[in-house]
Amino acid sequence: MQNIPEIENLIKLISKLPGLGPKSAKRIILKMINNRQELLKPMAQNLSEVFKNVVRCKICGTLKPNTIDCSYNNCEIVEKKYNKICVVENISDQWAIESSSIFQGYFHILGGTLSNNNSNREDLLINSLIERINKDDIEEVILATSATVEGQTTAFYIQDSLKKTDVKVSKLAQGLPVGGEIENLDDGTLISAFKNRKKLEA
Ligand SMILES: [Zn+2]
Repeated sequence: MQNIPEIENLIKLISKLPGLGPKSAKRIILKMINNRQELLKPMAQNLSEVFKNVVRCKICGTLKPNTIDCSYNNCEIVEKKYNKICVVENISDQWAIESSSIFQGYFHILGGTLSNNNSNREDLLINSLIERINKDDIEEVILATSATVEGQTTAFYIQDSLKKTDVKVSKLAQGLPVGGEIENLDDGTLISAFKNRKKLEA
C-alpha cells in the first residue's frame, strides 16, 4: 500500500474512528480490498445511503430516516404514548438504557454537553425539550447525563431551564461512579441508578 492516495486518505479517515489507530485501519482496508464484492462494495453503498437518508431529528435528537417528519406532537418513532422523558447526552447512552430495559418512555438526546457547546446552547435542543414537555403531557423528566463535570453542569443547566414548566425533574442516583459515562455502565448499575433516582427540588 504505497503511494496510493485513495488508500492513504482512507487510512487517515478510519484512524479517526473510536478505538482504531493507523495499524488497525490498514488491516480493515486490506480486508475490504481483498473482499471487494462481499465487503468493499456494500460498505461503500451503505455508507452513502446512511449519509443520504439518515439524519438527526432537530426536535428529539434521535437518528431517523429523513422520510419521517418530526413534529412536537409526533416526534418519536415509537407508537406508544408515554409520560416520561429520559434526557441523555448521546445515542449510545440511549442504547445502553434501552438494553437494560429499566426505562419505558421517550428519549431526548442532547448530542453533547454544555461545556463543548458553549457557543450555541440551542444545539443541545433544550428549547425543543421544553416544547415536548408542554405538548406531550409529560409528567417526569429524568436527567441521565454522565457523572462527569460536563455532564453534571449540563444537568444543572437543564434543571434550571425547566423551572418554567411544572414538570417533575429527577436525576439518576448518586451511586454512579464519578466520571461514569452512561454508555459504559453495566445493567445492574444503570437499573439501580434509575430505581433510586432523586426528585430535584424546583
Ligand atoms: Zn424526533
